[in-house]
Amino acid sequence: MGDSSGTGVCFTRNPATGAPELFGEFLINAQGEDVVAGIRTPLPIQLLADVMPDIHAELLANTTMLERHMKDMQDVEFTVQQGRLFMLQCRNGKRTGTAALRIALDLASEGLITQDESVLMVEPRHLDQLLHPQFEDEKKYGADVITRGLAASPGAAVGRLVFSAADAEEWHARGERVVLCRHETSPEDVGGMHVAEGIVTCRGGMTSHAAVVARGWGKPCICGCEKLQVDLKHKVLTYVSEGGEAHLREGDWVSLNGTTGEVIRGRQPLKKAEVTGGDLGKFMGWVDAARRLRVLTNADTPEDALVARTNGAQGIGLCRTEHMFFSTHERIAAVRRMIAEEELSSNHKAEALQELKKYQRQDFEGIFKVMDGLPVTIRLLDPPLHEFLPQEGPAMVALCRTLAAELDAPLERVEARLNGLREVNPMMGLRGCRLGVVHPEITEMQATAIFEAAAAVAAAGCRVNPHIMVPLVATTEELDHQTAIIHAAAAKVEQSSGQKVPYRVGAMIEIPRAALQAGHLAERAEFFSFGTNDLTQMTFGISRDDAQAKFLSHYTRLGILQSDPFDTLDTIGVGEMVRIAVERGRAAKPSLELGICGEHGGDPNSIAFFNQVGLDYVSCSPLRVPIARLAAAQAAIKAAQSK
Ligand code: PEP
Ligand code: MG
Repeated sequence: MGDSSGTGVCFTRNPATGAPELFGEFLINAQGEDVVAGIRTPLPIQLLADVMPDIHAELLANTTMLERHMKDMQDVEFTVQQGRLFMLQCRNGKRTGTAALRIALDLASEGLITQDESVLMVEPRHLDQLLHPQFEDEKKYGADVITRGLAASPGAAVGRLVFSAADAEEWHARGERVVLCRHETSPEDVGGMHVAEGIVTCRGGMTSHAAVVARGWGKPCICGCEKLQVDLKHKVLTYVSEGGEAHLREGDWVSLNGTTGEVIRGRQPLKKAEVTGGDLGKFMGWVDAARRLRVLTNADTPEDALVARTNGAQGIGLCRTEHMFFSTHERIAAVRRMIAEEELSSNHKAEALQELKKYQRQDFEGIFKVMDGLPVTIRLLDPPLHEFLPQEGPAMVALCRTLAAELDAPLERVEARLNGLREVNPMMGLRGCRLGVVHPEITEMQATAIFEAAAAVAAAGCRVNPHIMVPLVATTEELDHQTAIIHAAAAKVEQSSGQKVPYRVGAMIEIPRAALQAGHLAERAEFFSFGTNDLTQMTFGISRDDAQAKFLSHYTRLGILQSDPFDTLDTIGVGEMVRIAVERGRAAKPSLELGICGEHGGDPNSIAFFNQVGLDYVSCSPLRVPIARLAAAQAAIKAAQSK
């Protein structure tokens, strides 16, 4: 209807950075579809103040009122018809992780929301985005910037250039990271956009399809790179460099800085994000004040333990000792000698055990020092022994020869021993505490290594707090058997070192029988840790190794299952086992400490359930710790609100 009419889309705060400013764009003499489709590149909303000052002022008053009423950042559409403003719709605006954090903090400091409401406003996936990598040094790549576009969704992305959604999916399926470049995107492209590390478009503004979708996923996106020429047919991108025209082709490495809008040639180095200090540090302080569940970590090395502590972990909930056995060639060789030598009295066996004890002791000392008095939950050896042997025939034949020579034993005996370790159903076989029952020398070696390390670290003036965890317990007798060995090792080390180390012994609840027998187990255990990976496998009767590839994806697609039970706890089935064990365990021993160390410990939905059933802590991988802290806080706040 001419130049006194127009249309626009805007946000009450910047959806990429969270800055408190009206953010958006408009087009004169156009319809709403023209803005969102990205066909015409619209003008920034600030210019509306020049073109239509009264309309701009009225819009600002309306958006401020809407935001105060809705207590959240609003995404608003408006139209102007011959000088008259119409507000078409408003809704809570989609935002990046950076914006979510800033908006949550600002709204609280402006008095619009409480600290707890602020904590609920940042989603775990927002935090996940914030913890995504950034470029190592933005000054270094200056000469490689090929163009600048609109910084539509922040963060750093590095990948190989592709020009169609189908190509993006194909390259991704081959294990490659890709950056998708299009003239503009449409809903048919979402598959390719989803697998891409980042997205570049030549046309369209901050509210174009590409920008909105990418921000929702937290993927870096740069829009409106009008100087790039893209030849989709020949899969070539042309840009202007100092030396004239230059080209990038499909498969070439390209980097995107979605925060600045720079498209950069080559594979620029990335660095990890920081969790402490600044806005994030302040927000995480609010998170920690709101939660009841403690958050521990699953870590097997001093390095991982340090990362976890930096991320706010309050201890180690699972140290899988077998991972230490795999870390070097010498270690695995010693494990193999220990396994292959049957005779307990043989010198070879004793030497192999001594060597392993030395390695474990070193590792535990490093971990105790990093954790400085926080609980360190160490699990005794868990996997079936054949996992320490090679898979293929020729490597196995070679190993048997080596071991026969090393142990001074007939080849046939070594072969028979090692082949005899194979089981038809190893996950239900000689593993977990059954190993420690059949080979008590392994439990004794591990317990001694733990106590010697703790005594040495304590003697050096550092605090230590070891918790020893017996895996895959099914019966009280198994736990008694292993506990006796652990207590004996503790007494022996105390006598030889003169150092009394505090410690606890607990059971992993990973088998339905253990959950049902929890009352009796609790009389003997100081803590329970739910191994929900195995507990899911055993309660559901589905293999944690094969189910995903064989049928779980069909089940989720058909809606027979809502989600993969190894990702999100099946609260009504497997969760019922947890609930039973909690009730029976606590009834027998009110002081029983309860935690979970399966993969579900880092999943927000599962964490809400663990909060509800009254566990004391969750334990998850070092990088998930901040997300688990947030999920635990949100669960606690929602539980209090629903009372
Ligand atoms: C578990 O079963 O949940 C667990 C933590 O142990 P793992 O994954 O090592 O079997
Ligand atoms: Mg397990």
